[in-house]
Amino acid sequence: MMSSDAPSTTCPKCKLINPRGTQRCDCGYDFSTGTVVARPRAEAKYPVDADELERVAFSFKAVIGLVGVQAIVAIARALSLSAVGQARGDREIVTTVFALVLIALGVAAAIQAKRLADALQVGNPLGYAFATLVPGVSIIALLSLSSRATEWCRLRGIAVGLLGPKV
Ligand SMILES: [Zn+2]
Repeated sequence: MMSSDAPSTTCPKCKLINPRGTQRCDCGYDFSTGTVVARPRAEAKYPVDADELERVAFSFKAVIGLVGVQAIVAIARALSLSAVGQARGDREIVTTVFALVLIALGVAAAIQAKRLADALQVGNPLGYAFATLVPGVSIIALLSLSSRATEWCRLRGIAVGLLGPKV
């Protein structure tokens, strides 16, 4: 038996463990009345704030788009280097131009990652921004941010595709 000071409350209907003090379980079971209340929407757990959603959707799509463009630019850089051959001066120009473009894209992605982390209210948005700029670490930071953003959308009943939230 659960004592009254238990840290959680198990739903008698679906057996989900809810935090202590929860009014209503995800399945619709109301702990105070002991009745099952119909859920408003099948997926949405939280109401959608239009401004909040716009901020999350914009920066989420921007991060995905910028990462995609970075990948395309990296491929273009490799193709250009093989096209110019071994001419040293040409290689330096190609390397410099692409380095500048990639830095600009990286900074833009970091800014959007910070804005997304801000909008999602995750801890340390600046940490995400800096992690996005570190090669090797950036992929982990972006995947973590992307999964948080996807979960944020899922809890609000918003579908997420390859290019971000479908809004
Ligand atoms: Zn339940």
